[in-house]
Amino acid sequence: MITIDGSFGEGGGQILRTSLALSLVTGQPFRIENIRSGRKKPGLMRQHLTAANAAAEIGNADISGASIGSGALTFSPKSVRPGSHRFSVGTAGSCTLVLQTVLPALLTADGDSCLTLEGGTHNPFAPPFDFLERAFLPLLDRMGAHVAAKLARPGFYPAGGGRVEIAIVPAGQLDPIELLERGGLRRCSARAIVSGLPEKIAERELSVVQKRLSLPGDCTEIQSVRSNGPGNVVVVEIEHDHVTEVFTSFGQKGVSAEAVGREVASEAGCYLEARAPVGEHLADQLLIPMALAGGGAFRTCQPTGHTRTNVEIIKRFVDVRIEIEKVSASICEVTVGK
Ligand code: AMP
Repeated sequence: MITIDGSFGEGGGQILRTSLALSLVTGQPFRIENIRSGRKKPGLMRQHLTAANAAAEIGNADISGASIGSGALTFSPKSVRPGSHRFSVGTAGSCTLVLQTVLPALLTADGDSCLTLEGGTHNPFAPPFDFLERAFLPLLDRMGAHVAAKLARPGFYPAGGGRVEIAIVPAGQLDPIELLERGGLRRCSARAIVSGLPEKIAERELSVVQKRLSLPGDCTEIQSVRSNGPGNVVVVEIEHDHVTEVFTSFGQKGVSAEAVGREVASEAGCYLEARAPVGEHLADQLLIPMALAGGGAFRTCQPTGHTRTNVEIIKRFVDVRIEIEKVSASICEVTVGK
């Protein structure tokens, strides 16, 4: 049995999700202790519990310690069950993080799957739906696994109630991918989404983003959507020949629309300047599929503590070499190999 210290490195929920994901794929049982001890409210929160129970359903697993606040969990999977599954976080907790937990096993399973995921679809500190759809899933497609995502209803903090439908055609064996260059810039666009809030907020956000990123007028869009409660995000999508990146900022009470616009424009501006094809969050998502492919490489800026922690957890489950080398003052190359 593999033992994982949940306080290792960055000490967050990613350690648990990566362990569950790779335990499912490899069939190796594990025990994790000190779950999320690096966070303000340590232990399993509803979102993590949903992820653990989802993994147990997909992997027909024996699981113990799966309760709110639990600091330790033992997980022993049997066989992966592709097919139709529905997982509901029950709060505004991120449903894309539940997907992150079960997706690797379903990408390499021996049958197609259809998932319905309910909860938050646009949460701070989690991959927003648009990032998943436009940045991450197209790369999985290039690795041979076809995943279609539909946003049936957006869910924002604190009301939640969003729904995402995912159709997965697995690859069997994933192909390695190389993302060393971005290629030429094709399009940079910004979308402000509002639910139950005046469109004026979206206009003010987009006006800041448009000025800061010098976007032409036809590259901005306001989307008014229906959701269980109020919500607002600004999404900047940057499409190059070889990769599309998505950056998001989240409106919140007490933060001006201009500040929300400035935040995402600054993140997108840094990416545009840095010249590395892969941003910090995409780097986090790519590591597991690349490890399962047994090869590949990408260039990114300085890997975060989050990325480095993920690398170490992956190595506990998969016999793979993951090296991070500096190629210039601001760019690192991450290489995955046998
Ligand atoms: P943790 O903080 O350990 O719960 O993990 C959060 C996960 O969400 C990591 O995989 C991050 O890369 C991902 N993430 C956080 N913020 C964003 C964002 N704005 N866009 C895409 N992914 C994100």
